[in-house]
Amino acid sequence: MSKVLVTGGAGFIGSNLVEALLKDKSVELVRVLDNLATGYYKNIEEFVGNSRFEFLEGDIRDIDTCKKAAEGMDFISHQAALGSVPRSIADPITSNAVNIDGTLNMMVAAKEQNVKRFVFAASSSTYGDSEGLPKVEDKIGNPLSPYAVTKLVNELYAGVFQRAYGLEYIGLRYFNVFGPKQDPSGAYAAVIPLFFKAAIEKKSPVINGDGSNSRDFTYVDNAVEANILSLFTKRKEAVNQVYNVACGERTSLNELWTYINEITSADIGPIHGRAREGDIPHSLADISKAQSLLDYKASIKITEGLERALQWYKNQTK
Ligand code: NAD
Repeated sequence: MSKVLVTGGAGFIGSNLVEALLKDKSVELVRVLDNLATGYYKNIEEFVGNSRFEFLEGDIRDIDTCKKAAEGMDFISHQAALGSVPRSIADPITSNAVNIDGTLNMMVAAKEQNVKRFVFAASSSTYGDSEGLPKVEDKIGNPLSPYAVTKLVNELYAGVFQRAYGLEYIGLRYFNVFGPKQDPSGAYAAVIPLFFKAAIEKKSPVINGDGSNSRDFTYVDNAVEANILSLFTKRKEAVNQVYNVACGERTSLNELWTYINEITSADIGPIHGRAREGDIPHSLADISKAQSLLDYKASIKITEGLERALQWYKNQTK
């Protein structure tokens, strides 16, 4: 039996992870720490009342809150952060405070509470300007945004906490995760929710640049799978590592819109806008490390994931 703290558990990936953890009867307690900055109470409302679930509303920038949240926990899955490259370019100070200071606070709390393992959300943005494809974990480039710096610093701190204090860690470099509960609103929404919103409202989506940029879009269940494998693996060689969490397939923005346009029967064309600052042209992961050390499968491919996500977005508009 184990007790798991999910920071950022009211967010998109975090709330999907909480749902999966609560289905696992070997998990005794799932505690969420979230300040609802970009997450929503409605994402966790269905778990309230479950005696194995606790919600602590609070900010990871406050060390005492982090210590309180980590108290009695066996494992931590640290998902809380301010996501989005453009957000970090507009306001690097807040992204730095939440993503670096907040994560450092969580690591200090994990160490003091003798947590068995600290799994955390890293990012494909850490590959920065490295040119080779597919991306392999040990070949990173220079970060291209404050957000990418914060995620790289998290990895550096995880290594230091392991060497200096013996805290076990696993970092998960997510590549463009999508699926149910991903927010389609606000200035920093991700491309797939924006495309679904546009298709459902029958409004032309804006594609930044000519649409040839491509990404390794990853259905959220694959990210959840990677977290669960990382939290509970007993293989010693699998810990104190970072892993790519992706599908290992590349889809251009034009192909993505064509597919979403088709499955929603929207029958509209996109508008092409300016290319965005800090955007890399292509992203594709080599997922063989996670496959061999964590037994990660990435079993939901992009088309199946998009069909599942569509059902969720449709239900939201009813
Ligand atoms: P999200 O915004 O839906 O979730 C983040 C959660 O953290 C939110 O619930 C938010 O309220 C919470 N949070 C933010 N600041 C906080 C603070 N100061 N104290 C406590 N809680 C705070 O985003 P997501 O897409 O679910 O991302 C989860 C993690 O994965 C983040 O660390 C993000 O950087 C990382 N990541 C996501 C993707 C992706 O494609 N979605 C890609 C790479 C990395």
